[in-house]
Amino acid sequence: MKDLRIPTCMDCPCRLDYVGKAGQIQNGVRLQPFEKYCTAQRRPKLIRKKGIMRKPPNWCPKLKKPCELRVYGFVSEEAETMHRIHREMLKTYSPAEYHYALRSTGTIPLTPREFWRRCNEYGADLELPVDVKLYEVVEIDDGLKPVCFCLTPQGYHPETLFDPKKIRKKE
Ligand code: SF4
Repeated sequence: MKDLRIPTCMDCPCRLDYVGKAGQIQNGVRLQPFEKYCTAQRRPKLIRKKGIMRKPPNWCPKLKKPCELRVYGFVSEEAETMHRIHREMLKTYSPAEYHYALRSTGTIPLTPREFWRRCNEYGADLELPVDVKLYEVVEIDDGLKPVCFCLTPQGYHPETLFDPKKIRKKE
């Protein structure tokens, strides 16, 4: 199955592509034109061009190591039944946020991409630090681009339309 793309500085809203005058000082740092800076912290930090398109630097202040793990369960039996009915009728049905509530939190030593690679290897037998029930949603948050996966009878499935922030906002 298709690999998940690693988020990079190029996708990040904290990246500054400086095109102003040479030597301009911002929070104690002398900026140089055509360089890229990370502005996630008060002092901008130069991002080296090497590898910028492939992965974020190890010092990235947003990266979570280990990643956070959140499991979303059904808010009620009715919500679970509705989800199952829709899944059986429409094979492409995505989980709806209003059917779910945050059930468990923890950490996981895998990034979303590593998790997805293991899913392809182990299918539904992949073990996690918490028990996950059928059709529950697992979120792996690396700090840059969290990815959600729904546990289906065929194994975990990435859910790109599922927005867990909507659930956490309600709680
Ligand atoms: S280092 Fe991290 S926070 Fe800074 S721009 Fe890159 S991805 Fe964003």
